[in-house]
Amino acid sequence: MARVEVADHAGACFGVERALKLVRELRAQGDGALSTLGPLIHNPRVVAELEADGVRAVAGLGDVEGGTLVLRTHGVEPAVEREACARGLSVVDATCPFVKRVHKSVALLAEQGYGVVVVGDAAHPEVQAIVGYAPGAVVVAHAAELDALTLPSRVGVVAQTTLIKAQLDEVLAALTGRVRELRVFCTICQATAERQQAAVELAGRADAMVVLGGRNSANTAHLASLCAAQCARTFHVESPDELDASSLAGCELVGVTAGASTPAAQIAELVSALEELA
Ligand code: SF4
Repeated sequence: MARVEVADHAGACFGVERALKLVRELRAQGDGALSTLGPLIHNPRVVAELEADGVRAVAGLGDVEGGTLVLRTHGVEPAVEREACARGLSVVDATCPFVKRVHKSVALLAEQGYGVVVVGDAAHPEVQAIVGYAPGAVVVAHAAELDALTLPSRVGVVAQTTLIKAQLDEVLAALTGRVRELRVFCTICQATAERQQAAVELAGRADAMVVLGGRNSANTAHLASLCAAQCARTFHVESPDELDASSLAGCELVGVTAGASTPAAQIAELVSALEELA
């Protein structure tokens, strides 16, 4: 029978727990419409539960029907926050303090005349919000993308909080020697770094690795790719139903980790299901 082991630091991070608590408290107060700008966290099951409890995830400000608007952990561009206030909405900011720190860092770099480079996924809402604090900033995911850019002599760098550190190192190595002055704020959050290290360590010992979390979650996708590099039998799932006994056939150790938007209850549910399957 296979053993199931959960990696250290798996699951919901400080910023996600904080945002969920805030929204649940607002819901409990129960006065008026409550919306989040985009899904509160990148976990479709949690977002569906919130929706059933009357918390609407809206795509844009035009979809908000008054009441209270919660800004999610990823943060928003300052212009969006200003517009929400101008529309008379009661705005509650659930942006993770670690993301706020990135906003302050890029604003400072821009103010001091650095060309700002954000290392991350340009399509991710966290990165789009960061760029809002330093208009003109460029976003690169990999060093090769720097080749097409004309860089100023002074460059300041920040990273998306959930980035894989090797990706940041690759970009920094490419910038070194290309610019006269390079200033780096290492903004990968500690929770991400710890979760990734523990997942890689477990994946190196496991016969199969199950990574639990939303497919729209960047940090969960990063975990899955790091685990896959160590353990060929890596599965990224949103729910235990996606696995069957054949997935784990012949395994002695099944490792589990979970993205920063995955609550402890979902991890416990997965572990029970895996123990039954194994
Ligand atoms: S992963 Fe880090 S930066 Fe992102 S919400 Fe969690 S604690 Fe905050």
